[in-house]
Amino acid sequence: MTADAKRVITLLHNGVIVTMDPDTRVFQTGGILIDGDIISKIGHSSDLLDQFKDHAHEIIDLEGKILLPGFINTHVHTSQQLGRGIADDVDLMTWLHQRIWPYEANMTKEDSYISTLLCGIELIRSGVTCFAEAGGQHVSEMARAVEVLGLRACLAQSTMDSGQGLPGNWALHTTDYCIQSQKQLYSKHHDTADGRIRIWLGIRQIMNATDKLLIDTRDTAKELKTGIHMHVAEIPYENQLVVDTREVDHGTVTYLEKINFLQGNLLAAHSVWVSEAEIDLLSKAEVKVSHCPAAAMRMLGFAPIKEMMDSGICVSLGTDGAPSNNRMSIVDEMYLASLVNKGREAYIKGTTDPTALPAETILKMATINGAKSVLWDNEIGSLQIRKKADLIIVDPFSWSMVPVNDCISSLVYSMRTENIESVMCNGLWVMKNRKILTVNEGDVLLSAKKASNELLKRAGIVIPNRMNVI
Ligand SMILES: [Zn+2]
Repeated sequence: MTADAKRVITLLHNGVIVTMDPDTRVFQTGGILIDGDIISKIGHSSDLLDQFKDHAHEIIDLEGKILLPGFINTHVHTSQQLGRGIADDVDLMTWLHQRIWPYEANMTKEDSYISTLLCGIELIRSGVTCFAEAGGQHVSEMARAVEVLGLRACLAQSTMDSGQGLPGNWALHTTDYCIQSQKQLYSKHHDTADGRIRIWLGIRQIMNATDKLLIDTRDTAKELKTGIHMHVAEIPYENQLVVDTREVDHGTVTYLEKINFLQGNLLAAHSVWVSEAEIDLLSKAEVKVSHCPAAAMRMLGFAPIKEMMDSGICVSLGTDGAPSNNRMSIVDEMYLASLVNKGREAYIKGTTDPTALPAETILKMATINGAKSVLWDNEIGSLQIRKKADLIIVDPFSWSMVPVNDCISSLVYSMRTENIESVMCNGLWVMKNRKILTVNEGDVLLSAKKASNELLKRAGIVIPNRMNVI
């Protein structure tokens, strides 16, 4: 059978289509034609139906439903999914030293595979078709899971060549090892799984990176024409340490600019503690920022998102990992991003501003800005002819969304993860009518429960009882 013979033509019609294209077109009764993995037509439903109903292999009537580009989650730790609930309501040092580092240091390859599958299920259910991995230990296992899940991803290794307090069984790697192992991952996995997997470079954070690692990472990313994913300016302590040890007057962003690390291919996660001058530096260098509202509220603080967006920075949305935000739902993050940043306006200005970060801006952050952040906007992030068929169907007919009086705002303020009905990535259905088609969800849940129990035992992580357990 030739590749052409296998090519499926799918016609979706009679639905609201929110394209997120440069003209922000919304077709009230729209249709879209998918040819293999590509969007080949988009327009008014009746036109497409007349022209293509006899050519399509599959015709889906979207009556009452809404079609959107797949969401893009730009900061996820897939390997941390088995650690959901291991560090709730604990202080930062306990979070890191007694829970997360021992957890990650004791993770096996198989754990990483199962963890990524489990995380992927939640990502799919929340309408995510593409994500950026923040950096884990076993990238090949993540890639194996992503291939099976049918998702699109930019994967990165957790990379550290210095730092204090790391677990004893977690040997620090040399700078050269960090760079070489990532180059190997790149040659093994980049552009695999029908082009769905890309390999990025990772820097865990500045406190675990020597100058040589930062500079070699910058140069290697340039050589490989790929991106860099790094946690940036997460807590005041980080900035203070940079001021104390690296001879700059503010913090991480100021220092990164000094060594010419700020570039358009840097995805800076969180970026909470940045000054006005640093916002300017990020903007001028076209650095992308991943805003993770839930994790920021739990552990980091209020990021100046409105100021960053006003200065032209491309800000997208991320969930962070399960121990920082137990929910891997970008639907929840959209809702939170709007509310948290409206609340911040009232807090810093002493007067409320419900117009801050309106629904259309939030949708942009979850779609086209996400695509720009992962350097993939030529193919994904909006529903446009010749882009990849990454899309989701929302069924608003449920207690959570009825009545839909304002479609765009309903998608941000009313929609729940459960309203995501079907998900297509690269032209293939990964979830249809709320059933995940690529993995056996029940089997993954059982293996994840078992793997998590064993991992916590190996790592010696004991979660203390709360309340009067009898
Ligand atoms: Zn993170």
